[in-house]
Amino acid sequence: MCGIIGVSSYDDCATELFLGMNALQHRGQDASGIVTFSGHFRLVKGNGLVSQVFDAESLEGLPGKTGLGHVRYATQGTLEPAMAQPFYMNYPFGIAMVHNGNVDNSGELAAWLHDEQYRLIETTNDLELILYAFASELEKKPLPGIGSEDIFDAVGAVQRRVQGAYAVIALIAGKGLLGFKDPYGIRPLFLGKRTENGKVAWAFASETSCLEMLGYEIAKELAGGDAVLIDTDGNVQERHFSAAKPGAFCVFEYIYFAREDSSFCGSLVAEAREAMGKSLAKRFKERGLEPDVVIDVPTSAEFFAQGLADELGIPYRRGFVKNKYVGRSFIKPTQAERSRTVRLKLNPIPSVVRGKKVAVVDDSIVRGTTSKRIVELLRQAGAAKIYCVSAAPPLRFPCVYGIDMSVKTELIAGAKSLDEVAAFIGADELIYQSLEDVEACFPGVGLCSACFSGVYPTGISPESIERIERDRIAAKKAG
Ligand code: 5GP
Ligand code: MG
Repeated sequence: MCGIIGVSSYDDCATELFLGMNALQHRGQDASGIVTFSGHFRLVKGNGLVSQVFDAESLEGLPGKTGLGHVRYATQGTLEPAMAQPFYMNYPFGIAMVHNGNVDNSGELAAWLHDEQYRLIETTNDLELILYAFASELEKKPLPGIGSEDIFDAVGAVQRRVQGAYAVIALIAGKGLLGFKDPYGIRPLFLGKRTENGKVAWAFASETSCLEMLGYEIAKELAGGDAVLIDTDGNVQERHFSAAKPGAFCVFEYIYFAREDSSFCGSLVAEAREAMGKSLAKRFKERGLEPDVVIDVPTSAEFFAQGLADELGIPYRRGFVKNKYVGRSFIKPTQAERSRTVRLKLNPIPSVVRGKKVAVVDDSIVRGTTSKRIVELLRQAGAAKIYCVSAAPPLRFPCVYGIDMSVKTELIAGAKSLDEVAAFIGADELIYQSLEDVEACFPGVGLCSACFSGVYPTGISPESIERIERDRIAAKKAG
């Protein structure tokens, strides 16, 4: 998963990109990069948080009114700095690009680019494939007189050729800023408009909260197959390509990834999480469980826990303090390191749980590392009963569309029965959300829930899934 932003403004935009990337930092903490255009591309990127890669001096070295920013969470490829985005190439015109997502048919695309387009593929980042595919399609056009129709044609060809989940922003030198999505619209992308003293700026970004914080009004949520071009005069043109594919927006954006103050498909994430939390209450009633208090595994489960507590009519309390300065526990290479990091990150507040029947809610159970440690900590702190709750249904299938749960054998609910999961975690009860209850929270929204159901909207082959899993295991070992 990653966060992307692109700005076409009336002033230099590097500082704005920097601020926007800070607002998207939760989407990726591995690497950060900005490219701006002022007759030349200027690029700064490297491993680390936005605030670690950029300072006042580096931003000053990025002149230009149009630019792109990216925060990376490495799901594909290794952590070499060369894998950080944006990427750019100088022909035709000069094209810079950022993306969020994952390409399914990377082997086939790489072969086409290499064998038929004579391009040297230098990284294992999917963005390189999308960028070269777009450049190859654009090159087929009469380059001197190229217009927006030609650019949209090239996008259409890319959408047909590149299979997978992708939200893309491209900066085409002298032509404009372009945003487009895959035909199913799996990953998010929004267009915002800001007017200041009669001057207009446009921006694309992964989340509404990012655009709103920068003073933009949301002009459009791009759907599957959409493409929008802001030309150099600030004119907006739109095209829709794919032939009526059912929408398949990533349900995990609502569950884990996005900020609570962002909206997708008309649902505010905070409200969606509360509604999902509420629907968990019936599982307690079915089993005759009567907890005294609901706590969350901070901070991604807070709104689920509040919804559950409201519906059960019992208090929600903060039962853990999270040290937000400890790095991500999720992708630490070994299980022992992951467990240790969970311990350093989360500490219980004994008075909240001592002697109580505690319902502890996490957004999801992936490997089970967090839940197992949480149960141990709550027992040590004196909880009488511990009911572990996953606001997400059992995660059984790898995500091949950009979320870091790519290997089936690592998914505890994929490898074990639910009774075995409960035994592993050591809770008195384990409660999972059902997929029907999640879907009921989003009436009329086409969702991708492949990680729960195994139904992959792009129709990816089992061989491709296996290849992606193999690549990821290898990349993790290398990285
Ligand atoms: P587990 O400890 O079971 O392996 O993972 C569950 C924890 O990971 C939950 O607390 C959840 O908030 C978090 N989580 C779920 N999905 C992701 C993801 O894609 N990336 C990261 N960094 N954390 C995740
Ligand atoms: Mg968590």
